[in-house]
Amino acid sequence: MSVAGAPERPRLFLALWPPPVVTRRLAQVTAALHAQCGGRSVSSENQHITAVFLGAVAATRMSDIECVMRAAACERFELTLDRLQYRKRGGMLWARAAQTPQALDALVRRLRAALAALGFAIEARAFVAHVTLLRDAKKPAAMPQFAPMHWPVDALALVRSTPGHGGARYETVFRVPLAG
Ligand code: ATP
Ligand code: MG
Repeated sequence: MSVAGAPERPRLFLALWPPPVVTRRLAQVTAALHAQCGGRSVSSENQHITAVFLGAVAATRMSDIECVMRAAACERFELTLDRLQYRKRGGMLWARAAQTPQALDALVRRLRAALAALGFAIEARAFVAHVTLLRDAKKPAAMPQFAPMHWPVDALALVRSTPGHGGARYETVFRVPLAG
């Protein structure tokens, strides 16, 4: 810990945070799935899409990350969550976009390339736009039906994650607005 109490190597990720209308709809789907499959629900205030996971990073590099985010930022775009997916590994239930929007795919590619060029360790896995709703859940016998959720994406956030007993606590460090 630094003198001020902030970690010197905070755990960071870049994320999209849903608007309240999507958060409310996700809460309904999460509750329906939890009733059927158990597991640990991700709380409404924690539900998000991770664009890039950075992990533990020296706090002094935050300005570099901000520069990359500003340079990579695109125009606003819309994302549609229209599919639920179960992942056996970790018993995860996701709400995802059946099709990742081209603008988001390109944004993630620019962010990964610029961050990797600065020496950050960036994952190489294909990007899948998803919100984790539950962990350690059983496989649902049938997925609940829901109408597609339209999410206008107007900002990219740098988020600090602090591990805790009841799950991680997230704090937005700053948001970079998307033009539009
Ligand atoms: P916890 O790990 O305490 O259960 P969490 O997974 O919500 O909580 P973090 O591990 O800090 O919290 O992760 C923050 C975000 O980054 C989450 O969206 C998580 O899925 C994602 N993430 C974590 N680790 C990785 C990783 N190695 N690669 C890609 N994304 C990751
Ligand atoms: Mg985790």
